[in-house]
Amino acid sequence: AQARGANNGAPKRVGYEDIGGLGKELQRIREMLELPLKYPAVFDRLGVEPPKGVLLYGPPGTGKTLIARVVAAETKAAFFIINGPEIINKFYGESESRLRSVFQEAQRKAPSVIFIDEIDALAPKRAESGGEVERRIVGQLLALMDGLESRGQVVIIGATNQPNALDPAIRRPGRFDREIALRVPDVRGRIEILQIHSHDAALANDVDIQRLAQLTPGFVGADLESLCREAAMIALRRVLPHIDYQRGYIPYETLVNLNITMAD
Ligand code: ATP
Repeated sequence: AQARGANNGAPKRVGYEDIGGLGKELQRIREMLELPLKYPAVFDRLGVEPPKGVLLYGPPGTGKTLIARVVAAETKAAFFIINGPEIINKFYGESESRLRSVFQEAQRKAPSVIFIDEIDALAPKRAESGGEVERRIVGQLLALMDGLESRGQVVIIGATNQPNALDPAIRRPGRFDREIALRVPDVRGRIEILQIHSHDAALANDVDIQRLAQLTPGFVGADLESLCREAAMIALRRVLPHIDYQRGYIPYETLVNLNITMAD
């Protein structure tokens, strides 16, 4: 096994290889976002507006946050997260100034990716929300997006489980005018995702990823990740009684006897 994830406690660097089962979707996202983030001058020369906002929608745990983080990491862009419900509730009364400061910071640190999770909380259909406060917050978000003059070097990725609950104004041209649906993975997608999440583990010889993928219809990426984590915990519990706490490590013979290997 390799020590791919071992980087002294720093957050693990994520890359395109960490996303499974979304080949086509990823291809589209890269086309839309990499070019403007990395080569804004191309858009100047062509005289076209680079995309400002992309909306990712799909069930929870299908990789929306993961994709946004990976795009930022792969393009070496600064990454900002805005959580819809948090901005509304935790920053109540300061929601708009908070939004403004994130946008300002993102422009200062460009190239940047601003990820707005659960954007439906921030920009619900006006008719339904009704309240003055909600209207002001949506208005502020729209104004900030319209005011972005970064030639594509600040892109906004919005995520939602319910695209139809969104205020239609935020899906107009020049705002979130591209959309990508993320689906529950099929069996081939599940194989890829299981491979990614068991990559760092020393697997017993009889682990059959294909079979596991066949047995897990309906599992999304987050479910498959927790399946792998659970399996690792079960293996660990088998070893725990053998840990020599005095010496503070697991004797190598113990690991070999238990058929568990570790990254060296
Ligand atoms: P939510 O709507 O709940 O915010 P989400 O769509 O943003 O969900 P993520 O937070 O990206 O989902 O997924 C949670 C975790 O599940 C990821 O950090 C990743 O480890 C795993 N995961 C999800 N989708 C995939 C995928 N396509 N490939 C590999 N891992 C995935």
